[in-house]
Amino acid sequence: CGIFGVRGTPRAAALTHLGLYSLQHRGQESAGIAAVDEAGAAHGVKRMGLVSDGLADSDMHALRGSLAIGHTRYSTAGSSSIENAQPVLARSRGGHIALAHNGNLTNATELRFELEEGGSIFQSSMDSEVIVHRIARSSAPTPEARVAEALEGVEGAYCLLVAIGDTLIAARDPRGWRPLEMGDLDGAVVFASETCGLDIVGARYVREVEPGEIVVVDGDGVRSLRPFPPRELRRCVFEHVYFARPDSSIFGGSVDRARRALGRRLARESPAPGADFVFSVPDSSNSAALGFAEEAGIPFELALIRNHYVGRTFIQPSQGDRDWKVKVKYNAVRELLDGRSVVMVDDSIVRGTTTKGLVAMVRAAGAREVHMRVSSSPVTGPCYYGIDTPTREELIAANNTVDEIAAHIGVDSLGYLSLDGMLESVPTGPQGFCHACFSGDYPTPPPTDPDKLRFG
Ligand code: 5GP
Ligand code: SF4
Ligand code: MG
Repeated sequence: CGIFGVRGTPRAAALTHLGLYSLQHRGQESAGIAAVDEAGAAHGVKRMGLVSDGLADSDMHALRGSLAIGHTRYSTAGSSSIENAQPVLARSRGGHIALAHNGNLTNATELRFELEEGGSIFQSSMDSEVIVHRIARSSAPTPEARVAEALEGVEGAYCLLVAIGDTLIAARDPRGWRPLEMGDLDGAVVFASETCGLDIVGARYVREVEPGEIVVVDGDGVRSLRPFPPRELRRCVFEHVYFARPDSSIFGGSVDRARRALGRRLARESPAPGADFVFSVPDSSNSAALGFAEEAGIPFELALIRNHYVGRTFIQPSQGDRDWKVKVKYNAVRELLDGRSVVMVDDSIVRGTTTKGLVAMVRAAGAREVHMRVSSSPVTGPCYYGIDTPTREELIAANNTVDEIAAHIGVDSLGYLSLDGMLESVPTGPQGFCHACFSGDYPTPPPTDPDKLRFG
């Protein structure tokens, strides 16, 4: 998901609307904005689909006030429906609450059952709603103390933007799985999942919200709290590989720089001698393919063209939709490919279905040899921390060797980046990253299936 928030400008909702456009790649199922008016009341607009489809400029007139938060949703926990759109809005005895969450909690089921035992009623199937209930139940004296109390014992990944009355609070879990960046716009404080969200509104980058930090913005200014014991850092390496935009800086490093380095390292670890040129599977692997071409000393060509009016195939929740979407989304340039030996660079192979379709398309356009190079390690396990990777059964690399995958997708050769190669390519260095879906090194137990608690 993408989250954005701003406090201290009368254009809060309009800026949030803009900010969400640049966080669209982080979630396309629904978009929403909540703004807090002069009386401290929160009002929201939430719609299914893209920011441009769902949220209208006219909606912004209804969203008055100098504090607003917004969310673009990518479903990981909970189904794709309007009940699960964010920000979550609630009225509590301590004021109106609006909350936007990026990440996945790993003990949400337990926490939810505990709340339901105590009589709570849930409006959605989102893990995020658990946090809202816990904030509402807290009787701590200040908004930030209520958030801190609510987050005690909450495990897993969260970047949160919470409005309680006219206080804006940003919080990031102690392991720092997801990014959250902070900026300044003529004295207004801006938060965005990635710095491209700061750029679009013209905010100056200030710093990251740090892992384990709670940042409070209210009439007295900006304060920082660190209520949780420190944990070992686990920033998501897949943000650098695939999820974030290359024009962003996250976790203190440039995504473009990371992807170029991934591509260069891939060319060293897994060269493709004799190939005529390199091309990317646009857009997620463009920067890595450029890095590969630079390092290999062969040209970079645009041999696959993407239709930009179709969303990210993978992000669409249902599997049935996916196959025809390859053709709707991509076409091959015969003029370039016919009779050539080529290197196709992609950032990842998950199920292998898109890749298989693309290789067939490239061959049908006349390619003589197709050498696939992947700028990450094989994805062998699911993500529990906010990326929608499928179950282990569906992950092609969880169940097949590299040779078997190569045969299945129909390439002449296949090379993945090593785990060390991947981690060492990140500009801030290899330490403090989560690589669980690649390495199996999960820092938490898997979340409990709700049916297990319900039916034993
Ligand atoms: P596959 O061949 O596994 O079906 O699809 C691989 C493609 O999916 C790559 O181009 C990759 O950029 C894209 N992809 C899209 N979304 C995701 C996601 O959430 N996780 C992963 N791993 N890959 C995704
Ligand atoms: Fe990122 Fe993979 Fe860790 Fe999930 S499991 S947070 S996708 S590195
Ligand atoms: Mg891709």
